[in-house]
Amino acid sequence: MDQVKTIQDYPILLENFGLAAMSELFDDWVVYRSLEPVDRRLKGLKSARVQLGLNIDGIPRKLDDAYAQVALWMFEKAQSLRRATVDEIIFIGDTLSGDGKAYQNLHTLSQLPGSCFIGNEQADQAPLYSKDEATGIFSANRWSSLADWLTLEKGSGLKLDKNTVVVVDMDKTTIGARGRNDKAIDSARLKGLYRTVGNVLGDDFDAKLFETHYDRLNRTKYHHVTQDNQDYLAYMCLVLNNGAIDCVDLLASVDNGDIETFPQFVRYVETCIVGGGRVSETMRQAHTAVHTSVQAGDPTPFKSFRRQEFLATLEYMNNLADETPLAERLNREITITQEVREATLWLRNRGCLVICLSDKPDEASAPNHPSVRDQLPIHRAQTHSVGVSIADALAALG
Ligand SMILES: [Mg+2]
Repeated sequence: MDQVKTIQDYPILLENFGLAAMSELFDDWVVYRSLEPVDRRLKGLKSARVQLGLNIDGIPRKLDDAYAQVALWMFEKAQSLRRATVDEIIFIGDTLSGDGKAYQNLHTLSQLPGSCFIGNEQADQAPLYSKDEATGIFSANRWSSLADWLTLEKGSGLKLDKNTVVVVDMDKTTIGARGRNDKAIDSARLKGLYRTVGNVLGDDFDAKLFETHYDRLNRTKYHHVTQDNQDYLAYMCLVLNNGAIDCVDLLASVDNGDIETFPQFVRYVETCIVGGGRVSETMRQAHTAVHTSVQAGDPTPFKSFRRQEFLATLEYMNNLADETPLAERLNREITITQEVREATLWLRNRGCLVICLSDKPDEASAPNHPSVRDQLPIHRAQTHSVGVSIADALAALG
């Protein structure tokens, strides 16, 4: 795993602002991968399919044109619940290729005034921000530049009022700020993954081999099979780790192109298991669950992994004492990004609709299975909020 910067070479003066929860910013205006909003007053993809006459299979992902269609439709419904309209759309995220593109799609479709902030903290570099006028995307290497962005956009005429929709990304933006605390999110996911695989394989689990397979299959070269989908990747590594599956040439078949898609991989494993017949009952169950979900076209087929990721994510929130040094906290705890918190609260106070759109699978975010029903959803769980206060700059803006 990459090394996280220590506080010694971290010239940004970060502070711990105590406990908070994302629901303070969003209430239940949170939409996970299923595109069905947590707030049940707001209709989601199922209704949008009918009303928009969407002719698409499965659930659109953040980069798809259909995603923008559904999102814009939801914004209009949400605003009508608040007796407001959609006159402006602004976006806060952490990836140019993901959030930036999603914003551009929304902008192209709606033709509304707006802007997008992309943060990726690089504390070892001088503070830098710039706006690409062609795309409307403002990029910054400090999360505190959210204040510079809002100052600029308010100055250039955005109203930022009740008819403004503010879209905020969750992972590595609202929590686990990219460039600052994002490795904690990856650590939680890996912990969930290792626990899942450990549960299936027991003493036979070879962590070293798992890591080798994971690093290998995570490369661009294999994206046609993995689709850069963590469920696919996790399941493939599980199968490859399982010595009892009598398919020595499985990885070779992926390498030489005999297996070209993930469903093909799953079918191949099916024939190996049926033919071999020596796998454990837990492995057979894990495989059957994935196989069934894949056949149903589910983009998140490895449910047991996502449930463990959900639990591990909660375990990485508010898991360290208040006095824990910040460097250690940023390594080991998923924190709320104070700058995003202050910016969205400021926008909310101005009357904007603040809504969180996340690509995170619902299973990894909320207790939607009986085995985890006592847990809080991620957006309602408390953790420490860390960052640089931009309250003064925002107060000066009005
Ligand atoms: Mg993100």
